[in-house]
Amino acid sequence: MSTDFHVHLELIDPALVAAGGLTRVVDLGSSRPVEVPGVEVIRAGRMLTAPGGYPSDRPWAASGLFREVAAVGAKEAVAEQVADGAALIKIALNADAGPVWDDAVLGEVVAAAHAADRRVVAHVEGVGQAARAGQAGVDAFAHAPWTERLPDALVSDLATRVTWISTLRIHSGADRERALDNVRRFHGAGGRIRYGTDMGNGPCSGGVEQDELDALREAGLGEEELAAAMSGAL
Ligand SMILES: [Zn+2]
Repeated sequence: MSTDFHVHLELIDPALVAAGGLTRVVDLGSSRPVEVPGVEVIRAGRMLTAPGGYPSDRPWAASGLFREVAAVGAKEAVAEQVADGAALIKIALNADAGPVWDDAVLGEVVAAAHAADRRVVAHVEGVGQAARAGQAGVDAFAHAPWTERLPDALVSDLATRVTWISTLRIHSGADRERALDNVRRFHGAGGRIRYGTDMGNGPCSGGVEQDELDALREAGLGEEELAAAMSGAL
């Protein structure tokens, strides 16, 4: 089993993915189901976000791969994704790019997803968002946190209940160093890491990316741990 746990099939030529050698991908944000011959696709449907929140103003999201959720309407928004084939619910908590839900609405969205038997994967960006997401009961982070060095106590806490999808290759410079530092300590604390590249964001081959594997090695994962990071569940 060779899984990329963070892709956007709408933002890449599916033929590249079909030829790339992955056996399974997790699509963390698309406006519609995209199939890839020979590859199992698990999808999250549209990314749920606060009104005017990330990624509603991004050109790559113009297809409508997000869905704004106001103070009321979490249940309906989750139900729409489930009806559209979502096996997971993706949410955005990006305080650096725009408004995010308050704790009450965030809690309602997570509760609605869990009531529908769907796990929640969050894009967390901006100081304090990783802690908020952890408190709210989010099941996984779509990216290893990179916008702040998380305190050890928070890392240890997150290691007991939140899976991190790596996506280290999308960063450079200080962002990359912070992400590596967080992943190294999260891994050391026994946290569960899954291989993911945010395929569709920047240059990508459509297959397994060696630089993502190398970054995970740099963060302390051994070969068996890398194999585990590409298989199993979130
Ligand atoms: Zn993404």
